[in-house]
Amino acid sequence: MVRNSVPGRPAGAVVSCHLEHPLDDATWRRFDAFRRRFDVLALIRPPDRAHGEDEERWLERARSLPRLGLHTHWTSPSHARPTGNGEPAERVRSEHEWMRARGLEPRWFCGGAWYSDDAVRATVRELGLIDCTPRGGLPHDGVLPTTHSVGQLARAVLLPSLPEYVHAYFHDYDLLDARRRLALTSSLHALGMRRAAYDASSAIRKSHGTR
Ligand SMILES: [Zn+2]
Repeated sequence: MVRNSVPGRPAGAVVSCHLEHPLDDATWRRFDAFRRRFDVLALIRPPDRAHGEDEERWLERARSLPRLGLHTHWTSPSHARPTGNGEPAERVRSEHEWMRARGLEPRWFCGGAWYSDDAVRATVRELGLIDCTPRGGLPHDGVLPTTHSVGQLARAVLLPSLPEYVHAYFHDYDLLDARRRLALTSSLHALGMRRAAYDASSAIRKSHGTR
């Protein structure tokens, strides 16, 4: 049933979730149930202390996630892109440091609102994170591009020309909407019939040897 056709070319399926509201109980319960059914990379937004977010509850939840990544918002919980408040790359570095100092080991990264720049890319590389920010293309050294939204995935799994490599993403709050949740779960079942899971750790940089 599952076949990967072109030898040597990356093929398979990855699913990631941008955890935007991990402190919201209803959203968290939905995500927690979902990730027990599907293998999903949890790209989580760290608590924003400037906006009064609860670190202890956040840590308790993040520590329960086996496949953890960093999702940086540069401005606020609800505003992802940078707005001139400091160097974007420094925010990535400090959030990564903050997580590691609390025993968390994020392995993937996705910039909020898909933002990136040269310094952010260099920092992500230096920290040994696998970058999911690029939209499209194939996995390569340290990069695991994101290719399909929920809507794009729902359409793609119905077509004969489904790409060999598919990295679908959704937001945690998508799970609160019954119709979106159903579209996502049925699309992922259909995807699972056609593509084996891609080893999301395999895009790790071969040259990365600092720890
Ligand atoms: Zn976000």
